[in-house]
Amino acid sequence: MPARALFASGAGAELRRADSSKNAKPTARKRETLEEKSVRAGALAARLNDLYGDVECPLTHRNIFELLIAVILSAQCTDAAVNKVTPALFDRYPTPAALADAVISEIEFLIRTLGLFRAKAKSLKRCAGQLVDEFAGAVPSMMEDLTRLAGVGRKTANVIRGHAFNIPGIAVDTHCGRLSRRLGLTRQQDPVKVEKDLARILPPAQWTGFSHRLIIHGRRVCAARRPACARCTLSDLCPSSSAGQSSPAGRL
Ligand code: SF4
Repeated sequence: MPARALFASGAGAELRRADSSKNAKPTARKRETLEEKSVRAGALAARLNDLYGDVECPLTHRNIFELLIAVILSAQCTDAAVNKVTPALFDRYPTPAALADAVISEIEFLIRTLGLFRAKAKSLKRCAGQLVDEFAGAVPSMMEDLTRLAGVGRKTANVIRGHAFNIPGIAVDTHCGRLSRRLGLTRQQDPVKVEKDLARILPPAQWTGFSHRLIIHGRRVCAARRPACARCTLSDLCPSSSAGQSSPAGRL
């Protein structure tokens, strides 16, 4: 499958208008209304869109089946580590039927450099078997079908739906959840509840791109332990920003 924007956005102009809103900056004392939060979320989305643009899928794949396998393997691993093991894995098991018939120890050997490789090997074989038995070897697009597959939670399902089927979805991983809380867009810890809060304040056209760009921003700027508020372009829109304070992470 040729590389393309994983979480493309088509609402940049609308968001840039939101970005210019005088009400976009959060106030420390007054509780934000849902409408004000939605305006600020639009401004944040526009900033992130300007900063990172269209985001390519970092996981190497040629079709939706390979994308699904790569995303399952990426749990608690770097994309680079996954991309190192998938060429041999996909050569050996190019279809769901081939993977469903695989010997577990052979899958384990091929993905042994990844964390949780034994559990992941079991999930891959089971998932492939489900694709063969229940979906005629095709990857389904419905959320309830995807989340029935072994190794697939809502985050993985949203990535697959967004990239492979162009269906809006908010992929809440550890970075997206942490930044959503720091940015004051949610108070929830549960990823499903974070997803719901973000869905209330952003239009569907923004869901996929916003969540993926938040993930990138979390990796590059707003790290878990030492957020770089002083060089963060979201600082004036972020209630957790410590830019200009002596204690960098004191409020986070
Ligand atoms: S201002 Fe600081 S806490 Fe807020 S998003 Fe940027 S790096 Fe994270």
